[in-house]
This record gives sequence, C-alpha cells and structure tokens, in this order.
Amino acid sequence: MALGKVFHLLFRVSDAAKGLRSEEPLLATIGSVELRGRADAIKVTEKAVHIIERKSSRPPSRGAWISDVVQAASYAIQYAYTSGSPRDIDITIEVRYPSARRLFRLTDDIKTMTLRSIDEVSLLKRAGVVPYAKRGRRCARCPYKGICEALDSGLESQYQDELGLWLRDLNIVT
Ligand code: SF4
Repeated sequence: MALGKVFHLLFRVSDAAKGLRSEEPLLATIGSVELRGRADAIKVTEKAVHIIERKSSRPPSRGAWISDVVQAASYAIQYAYTSGSPRDIDITIEVRYPSARRLFRLTDDIKTMTLRSIDEVSLLKRAGVVPYAKRGRRCARCPYKGICEALDSGLESQYQDELGLWLRDLNIVT
C-alpha cells in the first residue's frame, strides 16, 4: 500500500514536470446521471485533449481490455462536458500498462459503448436490474461468486437477459 502511494506520488511529480494535470476531479451531468471521476493524468492543448489511465495489470496482446477503455473514455466524456470543450476538439485516450501503451481516438463507437455501459450501471443502481454476468477465470477467486451465481438463477425476463449481453464476446478494443 505504502509502495503504491510512493509510485502514485512519483507519477504526479513526473506528470507535473511534463505539464500534465493529475487526478483532477471531473463532474458531468448527462441527463439524469451524474458522473464523477479522476483521470490519472490529462494533457490539454488548444486543439487536443489527451486522457491517460494507468493500470498495473498485464495488457492483452493487442489493443486494451474493454473495461479499461470504457473507464478512460468515461473520463474523456466527463472532461468534455465539464470543460465545455469545442465539439471538434481532438480527444484521445491512452491506457498505460506497465509494459505497453495503447492509444485510441475517442470515436463515436467508443463513446456509444461507454454511454451504453453507463446506462446499464444506472439501471442497476436505480432499478436493481442485474446485468448479464460475464464469467471467466477471475470468478474462481471472486468473493461474490456465490451471490452472483444465485442471482443468475432468478433471471427470467427477456429484458434482464439482454442487459449487458452485448459484452459477452467483447474482451478487447483494438
Ligand atoms: S463471480 Fe464475481 S467476477 Fe465472476 S461475474 Fe460474478 S461478480 Fe463478476
């Protein structure tokens, strides 16, 4: 934990030296949803915004894990709303793994995927609609495994079946 804090501090110092803004609180209200977050680092110039999200995990062999891209894209969307950036500003996101950097433009496809994820989290929070559980190797170590599997047994409506199902075969963004 202490080591993590030291690394965090070192990143902040190095980001500041490069003119990056670190851990800036973001807040955007989109419709009835309030989004809050803190991007690890943001670089802003007159014509471009670059969002950096650091991860300690291993990257996929190409692209980035979809959850990492959605997280970084969510910060990018929050930044655009918060700052009132012009619509034509060039926004890029970067997922920075220890061994690789993966760069993406904030395309309409990535924005749509991110807003859809936010929509589904909102449904979960407000209406208690549990999305499709994407099971994998990590489930074996998950402390919520029992609860999670029990919830699946109650799924009957088509609506609940469909929520989050679009993520079933998506693992990476390239
Ligand atoms: S068991 Fe845990 S990791 Fe697996 S899908 Fe359920 S909540 Fe996610």
